[in-house]
Amino acid sequence: MSPDNNQILRVSKVVKRFGGFHALDGLSFHVVPGEILGLVGPNGSGKTTAINVISGLYAPDGGEVTFDGASIGGMASHRLVHRGINRTFQVPKPFMSLTVRENIGVALAYGRAAMTPPPMQALLDEYRLAGVADRPAADLNNVQQKMLDLVRALATRPRLLLLDELAAGLNPAELDWIAGRIKALAQSGIAIIVVEHLMGFIEQITDRIIVLNAGKEIFEGKLAVAVQVPQVIEVFLGGEHAA
Ligand code: ADP
Ligand code: MG
Repeated sequence: MSPDNNQILRVSKVVKRFGGFHALDGLSFHVVPGEILGLVGPNGSGKTTAINVISGLYAPDGGEVTFDGASIGGMASHRLVHRGINRTFQVPKPFMSLTVRENIGVALAYGRAAMTPPPMQALLDEYRLAGVADRPAADLNNVQQKMLDLVRALATRPRLLLLDELAAGLNPAELDWIAGRIKALAQSGIAIIVVEHLMGFIEQITDRIIVLNAGKEIFEGKLAVAVQVPQVIEVFLGGEHAA
């Protein structure tokens, strides 16, 4: 296990309730800079809720979230963006009437002031959006909207990036390509949490995974080990995502 001072994000016994239901029920894990951590688990196990709490969309009802050693639980999303946390959404939500270029421009203007913004054209080229740069976001297909969502997050210069089912709906060639992009981002020092159902993709890019079930981690370690743990197998074969 990595020493405490190297942990950019630490989630400790976090609880998130909706009414009487515990979507997160004492969740604990950490991430270090440059690491790609996979967050996997059946539908409803709390993956998106975990991302929503870490990114400030929801305040936790218990436990602690620390980023760079500071407690950030309950801090608003816009403040967390300025500290260096950003995320993509399971269903992307760009400003639909703005063009791709305008959407990215907003994020570039809004991002972390301490770091030089990446050039607009490089972002458009690297994420295959140059051909649609002046089209409204509403005109984009699903994959392009996902890429715009990723670029919007990157434009704010995050140090912790949370990707919620970014790869869902991509074809095999696109998956290979985006896997390479995500690995390159991690190599540049960004800590990345990847929520994904596609196990081949998770295996290709993650250093380590956390398996969630009913709002708790039931496994932490390598995917190759996870698939041999009876409790993990049970959770996956018992759920709807048997793949
Ligand atoms: P996952 O992303 O792992 O599929 P979620 O984190 O979206 O799961 O959801 C975990 C559980 O919390 C589910 O039972 C879901 O219905 C519930 N939940 C999530 N968000 C809300 C909300 N805003 N209000 C009420 N229940 C919610
Ligand atoms: Mg989800």
